[in-house]
This record gives sequence, C-alpha cells and structure tokens, in this order.
Amino acid sequence: METLKKRITTTVKVGNVTIGGDAPVVIQSMTNTKTTDVSATLDQIDQLFQAGCELIRVAIPDDAAATALEKIVVSSPLPVIADIHFDHRLACQALESGAAKIRINPGNIGGRDKLFDLASRAKQFNVPIRIGVNAGSLEKKLVKKYGGITAAALVESALAYLEILESIDFRNVLVSLKASDVYTVISAYRLFSEKSPYPLHLGVTGAGPLGAGTIKGAVGIGTLLAEGIGDTLRVSLTAHPIEEIRVARQIVQALGLRKFVPELISCPTCGRCEIDLVALVGKVEGILQNYGAPLSVAVMGCAVNGPGEAKEADLGISAGKKHGIIFRHGKVVRTVRLDDLLETLKSELDLLAAQNMS
Ligand code: SF4
Repeated sequence: METLKKRITTTVKVGNVTIGGDAPVVIQSMTNTKTTDVSATLDQIDQLFQAGCELIRVAIPDDAAATALEKIVVSSPLPVIADIHFDHRLACQALESGAAKIRINPGNIGGRDKLFDLASRAKQFNVPIRIGVNAGSLEKKLVKKYGGITAAALVESALAYLEILESIDFRNVLVSLKASDVYTVISAYRLFSEKSPYPLHLGVTGAGPLGAGTIKGAVGIGTLLAEGIGDTLRVSLTAHPIEEIRVARQIVQALGLRKFVPELISCPTCGRCEIDLVALVGKVEGILQNYGAPLSVAVMGCAVNGPGEAKEADLGISAGKKHGIIFRHGKVVRTVRLDDLLETLKSELDLLAAQNMS
C-alpha cells in the first residue's frame, strides 16, 4: 500500500501539542457554548476530548469571555485557543488568561500597529498566532485587484500579514485561508504552500449542515491532505461539534494518515442479501468504537461472496437467515447462530486486539 508524504513545514507548539514539521495532523474543533458559561463550556470540551478532539477553540467576543477563559484554561483537558475578532485588546487579555494560541482574523483586528502590539505580547508568552484569513473579510483593495475573492487574493493577504510579523521577528505562526467555495480553498492552500513554509490549519468555512458539510469538508480538506498539505484541521459543520471530530477523524483515517478505530468495510448489498445489513453495520460500527487497534473489519451481506469480496479484511462477518459466519482474510473460521454473531465478533476482536498488542 502506498503512503502519502506530508509537506514539511515549520512547527509551532500549542500547549503540549506540536503542529507542523513531521507531526501527525492535529484535529480540532470549537465550542458553541457561551464562553462565559464556564461549566457548560468545560462540559462540552470534555465531551469533545472524549471523542478525540486534540485542540479546542473558544470564542472571545468580550471582556467577560476573556476573563472566563482563565477558569476554562485551568480545568480544560485540552490546550485552549482564543478566537478573537475586531478587538486586539481581547487577544492581549486572552494571553494573560492563559490561552495556548490566539486565532485572529487580520482583516478585522485593527491594522498594523495592533498586530505589532499583539505579536510582541504573544512573543513574551511564547504563544503562537494563527493568521486566519477569511474570504468574508478580505481587504477591499485585494478584492478589487483580483476582481473578486480568489485564491491569489487570499494568499496575498496572508503573506502581507506574515511580512508584518516577520519584521519584528515573530515566526510563531500558523495560517488558514478559508472560504465557503471548496475549489477556492483548495487553490489557495496549494498556492500558499508553494510560497511559504508556515504550518497550515485547514478548513472550509460555512460548509453547512452535517450531510453537505461533511462532503465539502471531505473534498476540500481531503484533497489537500492527499497532496501532503495541512497540519491541523477543523471540519466546520452546523451540527454538534462532536460531529466535527467524528468526520475529521474519518477524513484523516481514510487517507491513512492516522488510525483511530478499526476500518469498517461493508458491501453495498444486492439481491443475494438475506438480512438487514444496514442495521447490522450500524451495530458493528458502534462496537468498533471501543477498539483502537489498527484492524480492518468487514460486514458483508452474504456468505457466498462476502468472504472473497472482503479478503483484505483482518476479520469479517456475513450472515444468512439463520446462521452467520466469521472469516479471517477471506477464510471462514467459525459458523455461529445468528443471535450469537455479534458476541462472537466481539470475542474475535478481543483476540486480535490482544495479538496486535503483544
Ligand atoms: S457480499 Fe453478497 S450481498 Fe454483498 S454485494 Fe457482494 S454478493 Fe451482494
């Protein structure tokens, strides 16, 4: 099996998490609770942590949120990123409150002097800044120059802000170039990665609800990751943020960049299928969440063709009306009553997981 090569960038440290260089792609999300509601925010961070989130961003819209951040940072199991728009003063406050990274939108942070001020403080705290260029707030002069929001315009904006930071020797930086148009996003990140060594935070902004947003995220982020571009990512969805983690992990795992849960292979079914395969796959998917081992597991719709069609799977099941079979790499190893199929699968999984650990 071929593996893809990640583009090597400079690195930043967000709390104890390394982004860039040859570090694995880092998955992040953002809370949607009121940051001033410390208890609700911490609850959500904890849920996201359990789901596999590795960095968390919280909105800092005002002084009260910047103050609440201090309590959140102390109890959060994840490094906390402060998301700031419009008011660079809040970013400075967030540094005092212990933010592990500051995300700003340079188009609305208030100009060169404010950026200088923020960067010199971030330097004292050794905290990285994400230059989060966003199509929605791109400078008017660039929109005019390029005749619209284009990849080149997004990249020029990012490079101009990086030049400002580099002029005071601030290089503790990541960059994002977000738009809601997937192809613009892909083109912008490709172009930027040819011109600059800084690590990249990938995302398609305003991607939409769970179904459509998953596809946009998978196409945009997945295309870039397949080209070795991207060091951390957020799949933006209009859904509970846990869904963002679920989808992000699937994108990263589909490309073989990281392995979180056993890979699930299942057939599309056809006229030979005699069971409710959709329901069975749903149950197996739930079971696999409890296994971290790098296994592949197949759930196939018939015993005649299933084992052969899923030969590459470490372990597989298929079922007829009364009996189910368990197979390993296409070879049937057990035949069991249908009612015992899932329990048998679990014990076989335990066995394989233990073998993998030894
Ligand atoms: S495994 Fe069986 S049921 Fe599934 S698609 Fe192949 S032939 Fe059809």
